[in-house]
Amino acid sequence: MSTKRCYYETLEVDRNADESKLKAAFRKLAMKWHPDKNPGDATSEVRFKEINEAYEVLKDGDKRAAYDRFGHAAFEQGAGGGGPGFGAGFASSFSDIFEDLFGMAGPRGRGGRERGQDLRYNMEITLEEAFRGKTAQIEIPVSVTCESCSGTGAKAGTKPKTCSMCGGAGRVRQAQGFFTLERTCPGCQGRGQMIEDPCPSCAGSGRVTRERTLAVNIPQGVEDGTRIRLAGEGEAGIRGGPPGDLYIFLSLAMHEFFQRDGADLHCRVPISMVTAALGGEFEVPTIDKGKTKVKVPSGTQSGRRFRIASKGMPVLRSRQTGDMYVQVVVETPQNLTKKQQELLVEFEKLSSGATQPEAAGFFTKVKDFFGNRAAS
Ligand SMILES: [Zn+2]
Ligand SMILES: [Zn+2]
Repeated sequence: MSTKRCYYETLEVDRNADESKLKAAFRKLAMKWHPDKNPGDATSEVRFKEINEAYEVLKDGDKRAAYDRFGHAAFEQGAGGGGPGFGAGFASSFSDIFEDLFGMAGPRGRGGRERGQDLRYNMEITLEEAFRGKTAQIEIPVSVTCESCSGTGAKAGTKPKTCSMCGGAGRVRQAQGFFTLERTCPGCQGRGQMIEDPCPSCAGSGRVTRERTLAVNIPQGVEDGTRIRLAGEGEAGIRGGPPGDLYIFLSLAMHEFFQRDGADLHCRVPISMVTAALGGEFEVPTIDKGKTKVKVPSGTQSGRRFRIASKGMPVLRSRQTGDMYVQVVVETPQNLTKKQQELLVEFEKLSSGATQPEAAGFFTKVKDFFGNRAAS
């Protein structure tokens, strides 16, 4: 007298599917219809039971053979009684099977409590802020316990009723053969309570979304990609579960003239040809909003770096500080007046190998190169 669906159809496999095909099909469907993924959906619960029942039979060689010969009738004689040890009972242990099979304990603890979600917040800070450290005020949308119903999910003036299926325990026990299995109550999804009049503010979920202002302490020396964890500042837990954590992901904005390399800072400063030749002194800004002098000796070549000790970035959670490097770039004069051009031509006439040793050396080598070529 069975109107049950064929077990093979239920698992969407054909009759000669082997063990691994069965297992794969079961995993796929169990994932899809698991009540944890479809909370409150009665259809998925039924489907999930069917899938489990079908798999319980087909994965067992003897039961499968009996099913292949007699169909559902093979298992019906024992339903409701002790019977052969499987029948109505085995399908009910789904949550335990699921956990065994996939090696994952459900997120639910006793009474349906769930830890709240972790939150991620992206924050961009300037290099100066990373240097000094700061306390930042941030606004984050978080789901918090609904005030209207104090998180019960029941409309003001009403109370959630104790679940009749589990008597409020949130878990039900069921005998299965020699074993007694305990699982999350399907009537209340582990809450232990049933809500008849849902709270209008939170639609019965017990949680609402709020903007929350938090003060975040950003320590000195943070780097691009530094992650700060604020324990317990994530989303509220469900039904009294612990809250999740909040993670602040920091990124550093590009700076006008400093490039960071670990704890060191680099900057490039253009200087005039005359300063480079005669020597001189100029001022550069430092990351602490101060200034420092850089002395350029006479005959400084373009690209030379000068180190200024301890003017770099602080090292996170240490007392060390990096250095600052100033690289000079000699700027070739442009837009010369007639007078300036004449002076430079005059200067060129007076120049010798001693004023431009590198160029002189280079052109001597070029000359030798062509000379040797001609000789050979
Ligand atoms: Zn509410
Ligand atoms: Zn219940």
